[in-house]
Amino acid sequence: MPSTGHVAFKICEKFDRIGFDDVHKEHRLGIMGGTFDPIHFGHLVCAEQAREEFGLEAVIFMPAGSPTRKLKTYTASADHRFRMTQIAIESNPLFDVSRLEVDREGPIYTVDTMRVLRDHYPPNVKFYFITGADAIADVATWYGAEELARLTSFIAVTRPGYPFEAAQTAIQKALFDIRIEYLQIPELAISSTALRKRISEGHSIRYLTPDAICSYIEDNGLYYAEKSIER
Ligand code: ATP
Ligand code: MG
Repeated sequence: MPSTGHVAFKICEKFDRIGFDDVHKEHRLGIMGGTFDPIHFGHLVCAEQAREEFGLEAVIFMPAGSPTRKLKTYTASADHRFRMTQIAIESNPLFDVSRLEVDREGPIYTVDTMRVLRDHYPPNVKFYFITGADAIADVATWYGAEELARLTSFIAVTRPGYPFEAAQTAIQKALFDIRIEYLQIPELAISSTALRKRISEGHSIRYLTPDAICSYIEDNGLYYAEKSIER
C-alpha cells in the first residue's frame, strides 16, 4: 500500500484537495468501483445519477487492479481498463479516475482503498461508494466489510435483473450497520460480460459504450479472441 498521511499520495488529478480549504463544511465524494472491462453506459449513468441525486461534489472512478471478488481473469490489462475509463469520463468535469488500485501489485480490497482515501481526506469529506443492485447484495460478505461500512456509505442503484429486495434480505443478515441509500435510475441492461461476448462474436457494441471506447477497443484489438487475452 502506498504510504498514507495527508496529501502524501495522489488519489487523482482533479479532486485531491476536496475538503481541505473549508474544514467545517461537509463535502460528499462519490467512489465508483469496478473492473470496467470495458466501461459502458451502465457505469456512466449510474455514477451521474448518483452524483446528481445525492449532491456529490465529484465522482472518482476506481478501476480494480487485480481480481479479488471475481474468480475470473481479466481480459484486458489494468492499463487498458484504466485508459478506457479515463477516455469515457474525460468530458465530465465532475468525474475523475484514480490509479490507486491499478498501480498496486497484488490484490487490493475495497476496504484497503477506502482506508487510503480516509487517511488522505479530512474528516469533513464523506464517502459514498456507488454500486449496482447486483454488487450491493454481496457487500456484507466482502473482505473487511465491517470496517468498510464504517468508512463509507453506499449508494445502490437499480440494475435490470437484480431486484433490490434480494439485496435487502442479504444486507439484513449483517451483524453490523451498513448505510445504504437506494436509487432508482434509468435502467440499462448492459454488462461488460455481454460487451466482451458481442465483440468476440463479431457483433457491434456501438451505442452500448461511448464511440471513443469502441474505437479504443478496435484499435487495440481487445476482446476479439481468446488469443488476445492479456493478464
Ligand atoms: P462484468 O459483466 O464483467 O461483471 P459489469 O458490467 O458488471 O461487468 P463491473 O465493472 O463489474 O461491470 O461493475 C462495476 C459497478 O457498476 C458495479 O457496482 C455494478 O453493479 C455496476 N454496474 C455495472 N453495470 C451496470 C448497469 N447496467 N446498471 C447499473 N449498475 C451497473
Ligand atoms: Mg459486474
